[in-house]
Amino acid sequence: MHHVQDCIFCKIINKEIPSEFLKEDDELVVFKDIHPLAPVHLLIVPRKHIRSINDLLEEDRAVVSGMIMTAKDMAKQFSVDKSGYRLFFNVEKGGGQEIFHLHLHLIGGWE
Ligand code: AMP
Ligand code: ZN
Repeated sequence: MHHVQDCIFCKIINKEIPSEFLKEDDELVVFKDIHPLAPVHLLIVPRKHIRSINDLLEEDRAVVSGMIMTAKDMAKQFSVDKSGYRLFFNVEKGGGQEIFHLHLHLIGGWE
């Protein structure tokens, strides 16, 4: 429904590009980053194509809170909750965003 042509994350969500989902529900999917910056590097990605944080609408509140709650759950599942981890959004080119489909990074697992 929200599929945007040539969006790599839409293609992953629509299974046009194979990827293993570590978790999925009605609103989001979670998969590993292909170029991990840390021993654990997950991407929490809404099914809805939203370009960036700048493009969030009032109606997206539940999606965003779901992403954060899912990050909490995934941190525990990957045993980085106690040691600690970082959650971040890159926003637009100057903020380091390279894929223009909203995603929350979860990195951790350092010694
Ligand atoms: P950003 O710079 O915030 O847009 O992050 C995009 C992230 O997506 C980068 O960390 C990439 O390594 C990652 N990435 C790009 N293509 C894929 C892919 N096919 N599967 C998983 N992660 C990807
Ligand atoms: Zn997309």
